[in-house]
Amino acid sequence: MANQKKRIGKTTTKLAFLALLAFVSIPASAQQAGPRDPAEPAKGKPQVKALARPVGRVVRAGVDEKSMRALIGKLVACGTRLTLSSWEDAKRGAGCGRDAIAARLNEIAKDSGGKLQVVVDKFESTSERTSGKPISLENVYAILPGSDPKLAKTIFIVSGHFDSRPSNVMDAEADAPGADDDASGVAVSVECARLLGKAGANGRGTYRATILFAAVSGEEQGLLGSTHLVDWVKEQGYTVGGMLDDDIVGADPTAGAPHRVRLFSGNGEIDDADSPSRELARAIEEIDGRAAIRMIFRVDRYGRGGDHYPFYKAGLPAVRFTEPLENYNHQHQTPRTENGVAYGDFEKYLNFTFMGDVAGDNAEALRQLALAPAPPSKARLTGAVTPDAKVSWAAEDDAERAGFEILWRETSEPRWQVYDFAASPGETVLNGISTDNHFFAVRAVGKNGARSIAVPTEIERRAPPLPTPSKQ
Ligand SMILES: [Zn+2]
Repeated sequence: MANQKKRIGKTTTKLAFLALLAFVSIPASAQQAGPRDPAEPAKGKPQVKALARPVGRVVRAGVDEKSMRALIGKLVACGTRLTLSSWEDAKRGAGCGRDAIAARLNEIAKDSGGKLQVVVDKFESTSERTSGKPISLENVYAILPGSDPKLAKTIFIVSGHFDSRPSNVMDAEADAPGADDDASGVAVSVECARLLGKAGANGRGTYRATILFAAVSGEEQGLLGSTHLVDWVKEQGYTVGGMLDDDIVGADPTAGAPHRVRLFSGNGEIDDADSPSRELARAIEEIDGRAAIRMIFRVDRYGRGGDHYPFYKAGLPAVRFTEPLENYNHQHQTPRTENGVAYGDFEKYLNFTFMGDVAGDNAEALRQLALAPAPPSKARLTGAVTPDAKVSWAAEDDAERAGFEILWRETSEPRWQVYDFAASPGETVLNGISTDNHFFAVRAVGKNGARSIAVPTEIERRAPPLPTPSKQ
C-alpha cells in the first residue's frame, strides 16, 4: 500500500511537471512557425523588454472571507429578495437586502478616508416579468473616483445582483435565499470595494480611472438593474472601461476545489472574434494568471443570461465570472425536499475559499485596469499585398504612459503575444511580417506597468472582384 502510494505520488509529480511544461511552452510555440512554415520575420522578431506589472498586488491573505460570509448571511436572512417583494419592510424582501448592502458599504467608506461614495439609485422599469407594469427598483453603488483628470471619466465596474428568485419568478411570497445566486457576487463586489477603497495601504485608494462597485436588482426580472446601469453611467458622462459581472460565484463542491473560476466573454459580431469583451477577458486572464481564470469564449452559459449582457450588446467590454460547475438544484428553486432531493440556494453549499479567490482576482483585475492608460484608438492594419504589415494607431497625450505594445497572435491562437514596443503613437512597420498570417492589436502601457485592454487593428475590407450578375 505504502509502495503504491509512493508510486502514485511520483507519477502525479511527473504528470504535474509535464503539465507545467506544456502550460509554459504552448503560447511560445504557437507563435513560432512550424518546421515547414517560412520564418516570419526572416531574421527573428524584435527583442522587447517588458515592463513589470504594477507593484502592490492584492494578496489573497488580505481577502476577508469572514465579512463576505457575514454579508451573505444578512442577505439570506431577508427571506426573499425578489424584485417584486417589499422595498419598505426592513426584515423581509428586496429593501432588506438593499439595507444590508448599503450599511456594509457605508462601513467600508469610513475606512476609505472619505473617498468612497455610496449611492442608492432609484428607478423604474417594465418587463414581462413585472406583468408589463412599471415597478420601482433600486441599485446600490459605491464609487471610488479616479485621481487622474483625464481618466476619471473612464469607469470600471464590478457588479453582482442582490435580487433572488424562487421557482416561480413572479412569486413574491416564497422563500428565495439566493446565497449563491447572487449574494455571492454581491459579496465579491463589496469585498472589492474594501480591498481597493482602503486608503493608504500599498498606495491603494488612488487609481487613475474611477471604479464602481455595484449591487444591482431586477436581474431575474429581465436584467432590469444592469440595463438601467448602462444608461446611468452614460448619463453621468462616463465611458465604460470594463464591466465585471459576478453571478453565481460562491460554490465549488467537486473534488479538487478550489478550481478556476470561469470567465465568459462574447465573440462580438466581427469575423476575427475580437470584441471589446473578449479583449477584457484576455486582459483579466493575463493579470490573474491561467491558474486562476478559465476563459470561455461564449457570451454566457448555454441558454442563460446575466448582467454583463446589456453592456456587451452596447458594444462595451463586459464579461461574466461564474463558478466552475453549477448545481441546478441549488439555483432558482423554492426550498423544499422532493423525492429525497433537497432544493434551495443556501449558504451551506458555498465554498468561501473559492469565493475569496474570485474576490481577489476581481480586485486585482480592477486595480491594474484602473491604473492603466487609456486604450489607443483608431488601430489599423495596412500593407496588404506588400512584404510588411503596418500597424497604426492614435492616442491622446499622457505623461504617465511609457508607450505601446504591438500584439500579435496566430489566427488560430486564443491569446495575444507582444511583438514589439513603440514609444509614441503613429505607424510601426513590421518588417517581413505578412498582414495575412496573424491578427494584430495595440495596447497602452503605463510607466507603472499597467496595461490597457488591447485594441485589435481594423482592416480595410475590400470585396474581391466577382462576376457581374447577368440580367436575364
Ligand atoms: Zn444570477
